[in-house]
Amino acid sequence: MKVEELYQEIILDHYRAKHHSGLRDPYEAEVHHVNPSCGDEVTLRVHLDGDTVSDVSYEGVGCSISQASTSVMSDLVIGHSYQHGLGLHQEFLTLMQSKGEIEPDEDRLEDGIAFAGVAKFPARVKCALLGWSAFKDAVIQAQGSTN
Ligand code: ZN
Repeated sequence: MKVEELYQEIILDHYRAKHHSGLRDPYEAEVHHVNPSCGDEVTLRVHLDGDTVSDVSYEGVGCSISQASTSVMSDLVIGHSYQHGLGLHQEFLTLMQSKGEIEPDEDRLEDGIAFAGVAKFPARVKCALLGWSAFKDAVIQAQGSTN
């Protein structure tokens, strides 16, 4: 199996059975992000327990890349500190802006490496970033509500 096919399988697996999907209580912040160029939407909630991201819950509609990327993001950030999550957001953003010239770090991004190929298609980069941007926005709002 070629690596592109493997990546496609990972994306489709997440799209067919999104991890951590659905909106749950409690939460400190809820955001709604849209990607008008593709029609992707996500409503996302973050629940923080101190510095720990206890839960990320979401409902989304849109293309397989946007929905699968949100699913992968939730796997990567739940149960870790929000600082770790924001660091991963930055790493994923850098990967997406690399036009395919950066090798992704599988130890840190896990299934997120499947989106490395998306970086070569500027029109789809916003799809892959939608859930991550919503997560960052929600964390910042949640921080503001607790400080
Ligand atoms: Zn899309």
